[in-house]
Amino acid sequence: MKKAVFLDRDGVIIEDSGYIDTIEEVKFFPFTMEALKELNKHYELFIVTNQSGIGRGLITEEGVDKVHEYILDELRKNDIHIREVYCCTHINEDKCICRKPNPYFLLEAEKKLDIDLKNSFVIGDHPSDVELAVNAGATGIYVLTGHGEKHLRKLKHRDVIVDSLKEAVEWILDEK
Ligand SMILES: [Zn+2]
Repeated sequence: MKKAVFLDRDGVIIEDSGYIDTIEEVKFFPFTMEALKELNKHYELFIVTNQSGIGRGLITEEGVDKVHEYILDELRKNDIHIREVYCCTHINEDKCICRKPNPYFLLEAEKKLDIDLKNSFVIGDHPSDVELAVNAGATGIYVLTGHGEKHLRKLKHRDVIVDSLKEAVEWILDEK
């Protein structure tokens, strides 16, 4: 079985710029490439993102797909390979099965790609990312970039809180 890290997108690998559907709006954090390159030597990488702006009609699914293609291309140039982008396009009221913190996508990765969730991690800037980890039997790491600082008080599981993706990766690789 393979170990994985499930990465939230906005506020973790790119800056949180609200609902975006053009590549011009994508801004990587300065530490993203180096951190993920190191992490990818030891872990399979996935992106798990809630894009409710699609469900709200504020951005288009095609635009979001282009954003993801662009992100994956930029990462690939740095030898970082994302196995899968899992994107929930729904809003809360849709009561879909894929919206975080429902572990739907992680269970799919476990089943289809032989991922060992117990030895895997979720990195995110929202309490639902940490809840997602708990629901999947993985370890959640909460970062203070993006909305992290703002939502800190809503965080129920306070096991691991770090400044950014950079420290999250250091923490994971130290634990190894
Ligand atoms: Zn969904």
